Amino acid sequence: MKESQETQILSWLQGGNTLTPLEALDRFNTLRLGGRIWDLREKGYDIKTRMVKTRSGKEVAEYYLPAPSLEKPIFCPRCTRELIPSLSEEKRDSEVDAWPFRLNNEMVCEECFEDDPVELEYRRADAA
Ligand SMILES: [Zn+2]
Repeated sequence: MKESQETQILSWLQGGNTLTPLEALDRFNTLRLGGRIWDLREKGYDIKTRMVKTRSGKEVAEYYLPAPSLEKPIFCPRCTRELIPSLSEEKRDSEVDAWPFRLNNEMVCEECFEDDPVELEYRRADAA
């Protein structure tokens, strides 16, 4: 039972949903949400807690998994210059598609693209 509750809770959180102890009881029939969250954190899931007020005014812990891609900018892998700042996932996808400086599967900044020896060869061949 423990395993399947844990898996259910994890996929719920990974779906971008939040969970309070009361919702956990309702949805996953567990009274030990805190323990499940602790187990998941032990396994490396970066589950966050924030305090929220219920309708009755009581403060309870709400758990959620932040989407890492929304929080961290993308850096050029070669010179670590910031390529794309934090964006919504949807917007980032379109930005990434539009990003012109790709070397193989790497997205790099314009400077690194210009300096890449293979690219230089291509451009020399094109010019010849
Ligand atoms: Zn670069």
